[in-house]
Amino acid sequence: MNYFEKLLRPNIARLKPYSSARDEYTGDEGVFLDANENPFNSPYNRYPDPRQRVLKAKIAAIKGVEPGCIFLGNGSDEPIDLMYRAFCEPGVDNVVSIDPTYGMYQVAADINNIEVRKVLLTADYQMDVPALLAAADDNTKLLFLCSPNNPTGNCFHIADIEAILKGFKGMVVLDEAYIDFAPGKSFLPRLAEFPNLVILQTFSKAWGMAGLRLGMAFASPELVQVLSKIKYPYNLNILTQQTALELLDSVSEMENWVKLLLNEREVLSAELAKLPFVKKQYPSDSNFLLVKTEEPRKIYQYLVGHKIIIRDRSSVALCEGCLRITVGSPDENRQLLDALKKY
Ligand code: PMP
Repeated sequence: MNYFEKLLRPNIARLKPYSSARDEYTGDEGVFLDANENPFNSPYNRYPDPRQRVLKAKIAAIKGVEPGCIFLGNGSDEPIDLMYRAFCEPGVDNVVSIDPTYGMYQVAADINNIEVRKVLLTADYQMDVPALLAAADDNTKLLFLCSPNNPTGNCFHIADIEAILKGFKGMVVLDEAYIDFAPGKSFLPRLAEFPNLVILQTFSKAWGMAGLRLGMAFASPELVQVLSKIKYPYNLNILTQQTALELLDSVSEMENWVKLLLNEREVLSAELAKLPFVKKQYPSDSNFLLVKTEEPRKIYQYLVGHKIIIRDRSSVALCEGCLRITVGSPDENRQLLDALKKY
């Protein structure tokens, strides 16, 4: 029995996935009369590869993991939702999450009618490991971590992540959406050590592909098989798969964007520090800054009036008085600073 088989919802364990005639034919060339497609309007007339074999092989080579350990989704929001659907019985099971963190863990839980037990971070935005473990009971199937965390921006201590993985009896979802901005800090090289670990990454941030929706979940082959059988068959469209393949040929371009954005983050932070209404900035391992200001709501609204949109996080637990600012291009950051200087 797999580590997680006893955790799976029985209907998911029993599920027979949707099958297509092309499961038995993997060639690119052929006369395809099996799926009621239109023979005209190539290449978009054909359904995309439901198993995303070419793209997975390329991601596997770059990430140094086996293709069988990769699930690809319509953004990383898709595997978040699928984890609930695979493991959590609506109205019965629960999950534990750090707080504050990315809002979709709660929204996906609400859609699936699952209780979220939130455990506040410490004052320095690290995890309270004993409290997280104590919040779990026999019906706690998932535990959500996010490192670097949104909206606090920081990475968690590796020893704490390890302690959660060892101490928690369910599945741990470690969301690394911003990890490309924290080189060397990914937990991915240690994936095989923990059968209960799922690592999420995305093409939406450092890879600059938010509009095409491509997220990754790295996990044991057994868990990847479960997620694959419950996803919509054609969850990744042809354009997304092709564009990602091209982008993956130029990893150095992504690395240059990251370098530029990390440099801009420091420039932006230094300039923000000079503004009289900026009270505090938090250390960031990501492409955004969490900034404590006087009158955060008024600053947010003032900027909207100048067509500059940032995120008001001032009513979020432990982020009182804070604005979250994405690091933009040098020109965008200049526009932001010019506006703020006139506030
Ligand atoms: N995780 C975190 C922590 C995020 O901040 C976001 C996007 N804001 C996502 C996941 C979602 O990413 P995707 O675009 O891949 O769905």
